[in-house]
Amino acid sequence: MKILKAGAAGIRKAAALIRGGGVVAFPTETVYGLGADGLDPAACARLFEIKGRPRFDPLILHECTAARARKLFSRVPGPALKLMRKFWPGPLTLVLPKARSVPDIVTAGLPTVAVRVPADPRALALIKAAGRPIAAPSANSFGRLSPTTAAHVWKQLGGGPDLILDGGGTRIGLESTIITFEGGRPVLLRAGGLPLEEIEKIAGPAAAPGKARKGRPPAPGCLKKHYAPSAGLRIIAPGGKVKAGAGAAYLAFSKKPSGKFRAVEVLSRAGNLREAAARLFSALHRLERSGAAVIYAERVPAKGLGRAIMDRLRRASA
Ligand code: AMP
Ligand code: MG
Repeated sequence: MKILKAGAAGIRKAAALIRGGGVVAFPTETVYGLGADGLDPAACARLFEIKGRPRFDPLILHECTAARARKLFSRVPGPALKLMRKFWPGPLTLVLPKARSVPDIVTAGLPTVAVRVPADPRALALIKAAGRPIAAPSANSFGRLSPTTAAHVWKQLGGGPDLILDGGGTRIGLESTIITFEGGRPVLLRAGGLPLEEIEKIAGPAAAPGKARKGRPPAPGCLKKHYAPSAGLRIIAPGGKVKAGAGAAYLAFSKKPSGKFRAVEVLSRAGNLREAAARLFSALHRLERSGAAVIYAERVPAKGLGRAIMDRLRRASA
């Protein structure tokens, strides 16, 4: 196992590994992905093994252009097309009826497939050089904190992947927003790096999930407990009263707490949700490393990216 810089040579090596059925961790603008040839069922099976992820959880396919991404779907409704034009490349995943070429292991047997075009130039170069869609769940152990640096990947997966491409910290720091369509209306399957408000401006008001959710087990991104640090996490009101001390760590939104804690992280002194989102997982990784038994996490405003931050905190605390 190797860690290589995500420069031209590293990307060439990573693409060759993927073409040969290997598994490579790589940076995207959301979080680090654990990638394999998305059309090779055996290579995809290794992703589940390395992560310890249950097979009923479908994977996201990553393409390097919207034109290529569209070929993975059998049908694209008009408003979905508008979203692709507006937000790809970017942190938006679309779930639509799958093309025949997409293997069942990718979709966990579902008739739909999740596809996205990432915005990170290194990710795009890797997909282009591999010459095929790359299936890539987040590069963490199942249910644990998502990785926003190569060191986070190494800490959780060690020698599992054949290669880790190190591209520094990820720009957005939250997973993609996942959208499907029901009766022509967008449905939010997972809040993420693209605020729902922006999606609704283009595709119209979102509907509550109906049949998209029924009759199938919940996928991990949607499991009640997920994105969890090893310490217990408790959500509190900003500045709320908690028991300080050496056993407790504190995740503040914008203001340092007054008591003495084992470790303190402030997500954004300016109270900026974009900055808070980008720092969320790395702050949680540091608080986890501090060895505190409990992490108090302040609530953030549940609008824009705050919706996705609150979603991750709630699952981490479940
Ligand atoms: P990850 O790549 O680990 O961030 O998570 C991928 C998530 O995408 C899964 O946990 C599902 O919630 C969602 N997903 C992927 N494919 C589908 C699909 N066909 N239908 C509904 N959700 C999907
Ligand atoms: Mg994940």
